[in-house]
Amino acid sequence: MKSALLEISYLIGSVTFILGLKMMGNPKTARRGNLLGAVGMTIAIVGTIFLFEKQDHGAVDESYSVPGLVYALIFGAIALGTVVGWLTAKRVQMTKMPELVSMFNGMGGACAALIGLMEYEHNLGQTGALSAIVAGMVIGSVSFSGSIIAYLKLNGSMRQPIRLPQYNVINTLVMAGVAAFSVWMVITSPSDPFILYVLFACAIVYGILFTIPIGGADMPVVISLLNSFTGLAAAFGGFLYDNKVMLTGGILVGSAGTLLTLVMCKAMNRPLSNVIFGAFGATGASSDREIKGNIKDIGVSDTAVLMNYSKKVVIVPGYGLAVAQAQHVIHELESILEARGVTVKYAIHPVAGRMPGHMNVLLAESNVSYDKLVEMEDINPEFASTDVVLVVGANDVVNPAAKNDPASPIYGMPILDVENAQHIIVNKRSMSAGYAGIENELFFNPKTSMLFGDAKDVLTKLVTELKSL
Ligand code: NDP
Repeated sequence: MKSALLEISYLIGSVTFILGLKMMGNPKTARRGNLLGAVGMTIAIVGTIFLFEKQDHGAVDESYSVPGLVYALIFGAIALGTVVGWLTAKRVQMTKMPELVSMFNGMGGACAALIGLMEYEHNLGQTGALSAIVAGMVIGSVSFSGSIIAYLKLNGSMRQPIRLPQYNVINTLVMAGVAAFSVWMVITSPSDPFILYVLFACAIVYGILFTIPIGGADMPVVISLLNSFTGLAAAFGGFLYDNKVMLTGGILVGSAGTLLTLVMCKAMNRPLSNVIFGAFGATGASSDREIKGNIKDIGVSDTAVLMNYSKKVVIVPGYGLAVAQAQHVIHELESILEARGVTVKYAIHPVAGRMPGHMNVLLAESNVSYDKLVEMEDINPEFASTDVVLVVGANDVVNPAAKNDPASPIYGMPILDVENAQHIIVNKRSMSAGYAGIENELFFNPKTSMLFGDAKDVLTKLVTELKSL
């Protein structure tokens, strides 16, 4: 009876994950989708704690009861995790979200690795179970250490890629070594736990080596790849325990992460083989090309006039918009212009901001209509017929070096072709570089005018100015 109820709780959990994920595909239903998935997860966890029955040779072991201490430890850990997770998620600023996501992803990988470390000795000699255990532990460990490095890179503690000499060769050899070691473990099933810990350490080292050489503009790909690793590692856990909800959850995360990796690869114009074999950012060296030209300033009132008398304005949001929390005021600006008969669209670059979908999430928060957010491929041909492009806190995603400087770390990445518009107005606080750490010749383009200042301040003044026209 209990096991039937447990299976039902897993079924409910699995269905809620799938429905929740589907609902997250649209900003209108995303919050409810998230909540639905969380409810499903709670049902599955509570079901496992209270309905799981120990089996002995296929029959329920009636004599077994879970010791009180185990319950105390489980609920203690849940309480601790809930408080820490809740407070962290509540307090985190929108701009710190990508780091948080990386950290949570790393914790998922660590859980999968711990399962492997614990279960290994109970399954010695069983090739099927050992395959799942070793694969889950290795992939989970890579995901854990890789995500911690990604976290450090996202919060700015580790800005420059660290590239050992011949790092591609070293990484590929280490990867092959870890894979061969894993296969050997499964086949020979050594009982000495020390050997298992050596494999664990090697996987951790590979995760670090795999992530440290990543150049700025390649970070989105590695983030989604690590995400898919965690899903895969969890799925191996589900396979090991024959736990359907863990398997479903793992497969969903793994496949969603893989799809996102492919989308990001396409967006960054990097083949997937480069990602897997660690040839990221092969162009690595920063360019010493000198950019010639002058910088032209523009004030808020001139910008307001220019936009007011335009037919079509395209806004390019970037990371700086998120930092300044200017999403609401930009929506206000858009509404005023639209009311005056100006067509306004947002050009969304796939890697703008610091996490996949960052700009969509940000603008959805301020109720910008979803059909105003236009993907890069669709908006690029429209720049030629655009009167004013307003670049707000974006830099790398509009940097022409991606097209014409082979030494640049973003070379090859498709960008928003804003230079085709009649007027380009760039709002940022200074001439500082973006995430990739390189100069941007767009700022020196004769069609470009720089509107310096914090995005929220400048846009607020722009709105006031527009209202007075
Ligand atoms: P960038 O990081 O290239 O540039 C952001 C610009 O915003 C900076 O040059 C900064 O200039 C400006 N800025 C910062 N704060 C403010 C503010 N308060 N007001 C106005 N401007 C501000 O951003 P993009 O969105 O163009 O590009 C994203 C980059 O991040 C890409 O290189 C991408 O590869 C990388 N990345 C993306 C991830 C993703 O998944 N989307 C993940 C990890 C990295 P200043 O200091 O002068 O104001």
